[in-house]
Amino acid sequence: MANPKDYKIATLASHTALQILKGAKEEGFETIAICQKGKRKPYESYGVADKIIEIEKFEDYFEIEQQLIDEKAIVIPHGSFVSYLGFENVKKIKAMHYGNRNIIEWESDRSMERKWLLDAGLNMPKLFDKPEDIDRPVIIKFNGAGGGKGYFIANNPEEFHKRMEGHPDAERGYVIQEYIVGVPIYTHYFHSPVTGELEIMSFDKRYESNADSVGRIAAKDQVDVGIQTTYTITGNVPIVVRESLLPKIFEMGEGAVEASKKIVDGGLWGPFCLEAIVDPNLDFFVFEISARIVAGTNPFVHGSPYTWLRYDEPMSTGRRLARDIKEAIEEDKLPEVLG
Ligand code: ATP
Repeated sequence: MANPKDYKIATLASHTALQILKGAKEEGFETIAICQKGKRKPYESYGVADKIIEIEKFEDYFEIEQQLIDEKAIVIPHGSFVSYLGFENVKKIKAMHYGNRNIIEWESDRSMERKWLLDAGLNMPKLFDKPEDIDRPVIIKFNGAGGGKGYFIANNPEEFHKRMEGHPDAERGYVIQEYIVGVPIYTHYFHSPVTGELEIMSFDKRYESNADSVGRIAAKDQVDVGIQTTYTITGNVPIVVRESLLPKIFEMGEGAVEASKKIVDGGLWGPFCLEAIVDPNLDFFVFEISARIVAGTNPFVHGSPYTWLRYDEPMSTGRRLARDIKEAIEEDKLPEVLG
């Protein structure tokens, strides 16, 4: 029988690498952290890496890839992987890669992503083709704006034009999306091709600067000082949702997996996240899907209330992923989880 000990788990040392590597060790794998020079400290201090490979910058990944192939390392992609290498380069990875790399293109392109999510039967914020159509609060999202930089809210065409005038990002592409007044809920799912099941692992909301601090000063001061809202992610806050919402949330995840099979051979598997705003009618408006492990799973290194219901041991998303690989190896199905 194939032995998990013959394989190693490797990832770029950033984003969710601590829990991925710790989870891999808990499942009996040796681990490799690919670190940027000068940034190895956390991976040493927390003892999650059996080996550290240093590179100047993450974009140099391909310079050390042969080493990973020689060590029979399975590479785990995460958010930094995609943002540093770009989906075109992720497709060129020759080392063993967990998850379906062909799906990444669908989450990297706003209109492809929208088609996928609508096909999945998910409710999304309305899009407006042109500013003249704005008849409710909208959020203007610029393409490639890291951390939602420059996003703004408008209530009507006049406000839109006023705020767009002289806007530093005006030349970039953008979308005009209905602004949903509600709370953000990010659901972390795991779909295993080995068991065929969809699990809800945990939930989070983001802790964003300055969006999560503007409410700490009076509205008048906000206006006087001319504060512009930004959404620079600084951390993640765990959430437990109303239990009665769970059936709907399972259904949403299953819809996303089913629809993924129609757009890409093999569909979506492994960890993924639906990012939604939930309004006071408890309607979910999904505005994004992340087709890989998200940083919102980081509070749950020791498991979440939901994983605790299902597993009688600590189960992070990183560990769940390693277990999927381990079970696939033991059942001689490894190619089914690689893509
Ligand atoms: P990414 O997740 O790709 O880094 P980003 O940080 O640039 O994206 P988004 O995540 O799209 O930007 O949105 C930034 C913030 O705006 C988030 O806090 C999100 O909750 C909020 N938001 C996004 N779309 C809407 C919407 N339609 N209605 C209300 N709030 C929204």
